[in-house]
Amino acid sequence: MRYLSTRGLPDDPRPGFWDILLEGLAPDGGLYLPESYPQLDTATLGRWRQILDAEGYPALAQAVLSLFIDDIDAAQLRALCERAYSAEVFSDPRIVPVDELDGGLWLAHLSNGPTAAFKDMAMQLLGQLFEFELARRDSALTILGATSGDTGSAAEYAMRGRRGIRVFMLTPAGRMTPFQQAQMFSLDDPAIVNIAVDGVFDDCQDLVKAVSGDLEFKHRYRLGAVNSINWARLVAQVVYYIAAWLRVTTADDQRVSFAVPTGNFGDIMAGHVARMMGLPIDTLVLATNENDVLDEFFRTGVYRIRSASETLATSSPSMDISKASNFERFIFDLLGRDSARVRELFAGRLPEDGVFDLSGTPEFAAVRDRFGFVSGSSTHADRLAAISDLDRRDGVLIDPHTADAVTVARRHVDPQVPMIVLETALPVKFSQTIKEATGRRPDRPARFVGLEEKPRHVIDLPNDVEALKALIAERSGD
Ligand SMILES: *Cc1c(COP(=O)(O)O)cnc(C)c1O
Repeated sequence: MRYLSTRGLPDDPRPGFWDILLEGLAPDGGLYLPESYPQLDTATLGRWRQILDAEGYPALAQAVLSLFIDDIDAAQLRALCERAYSAEVFSDPRIVPVDELDGGLWLAHLSNGPTAAFKDMAMQLLGQLFEFELARRDSALTILGATSGDTGSAAEYAMRGRRGIRVFMLTPAGRMTPFQQAQMFSLDDPAIVNIAVDGVFDDCQDLVKAVSGDLEFKHRYRLGAVNSINWARLVAQVVYYIAAWLRVTTADDQRVSFAVPTGNFGDIMAGHVARMMGLPIDTLVLATNENDVLDEFFRTGVYRIRSASETLATSSPSMDISKASNFERFIFDLLGRDSARVRELFAGRLPEDGVFDLSGTPEFAAVRDRFGFVSGSSTHADRLAAISDLDRRDGVLIDPHTADAVTVARRHVDPQVPMIVLETALPVKFSQTIKEATGRRPDRPARFVGLEEKPRHVIDLPNDVEALKALIAERSGD
């Protein structure tokens, strides 16, 4: 399997999985995708049904990943999957259990990992893949990132203790929830450096860009990233679409739909890949909160990115985005993989005008029938209603992001087709909103008891590039 860039870089030879694993963007500024999607037939799906039943989630993960990853033997890949998705790491041995709810909905639980958000599903595998490949190259990596909450902690829990990996994670001082802060700052590990920047999330991102833009410095300290455009993260997410489909269906051609709370278009992009591979997915329901950039596109064909100041702070904060970093991948497929048009939109129109318009094109007209996409958005009041409704009707407590998906899913339920809602976090991470919706705080899983009382490991830093560089140098032993 070889990979190409959405912007048509004439790479020769085209890179393989391991070449792009440690990269972010392609050199032409585009995103990597496989040359073509592997195609599934019902016989393969039937075999995977048996594998999941008999051997569990890691074995299914190996079967799926082996379609995308060359140059690793089956036993090695299996060992990495077993370690990423072990019962020591995830609190449920099924890894992705699925429950039936009232009204044709199902809930796929993706938040049983160490940081109680679905980002663990991809990040845990990424930690294993990075360690494996760095050892094979006899190399090391310094991950430099910025986080407003879930990504940073998922990365730290996945990368800690991995040979050759060091993490510097910037957070906006005082702006994450106490639980999110405690999750990261309680980690006591010399290779994990938490940094509280005197600024907002955008300042943190600008610092990362400035430091990574100094190529000499970047090279010297082997700086890398784990952001949501990383292809390996997406491919890890394809696995749970297949697992959830297997858990809900009984026949190998039975169709289901998925409802996905969406921010950077990573999670739902994996659903698109699964559908392109031939997994029997009827509809992909994209749900946003009040920050409805993507809902607007799927309703109108107009993609209008917002400025940071236009982006609202909502009660489903991990979906407060102004532009969706993975969206270019979907547009590439929507436009029949025409990289010249993608380049014109993402390197021309968007930076210049902040908007592009596909309304009236035959490609956009096919977004529902050929690609299965529908969308909707949800408000704070909708979230509270969905949380309290599921609590009363099903005795199930969901977090505010999952509630956005439930809200939009209910508008698109077809009684003939199971609708699987992807749960993206545990309610304990957002207990304030849960209390507002139900009048009580969610139960705290035993593994998180006392988290906020643990000693904090975090370095305060001014919003200053040179100060950050000095810290990286010092902590890297220079
Ligand atoms: C990251 C995140 C999302 C959004 O996922 P994308 O892949 O960015 O679309 C939704 N919910 C939670 C809890 C998240 O952490």
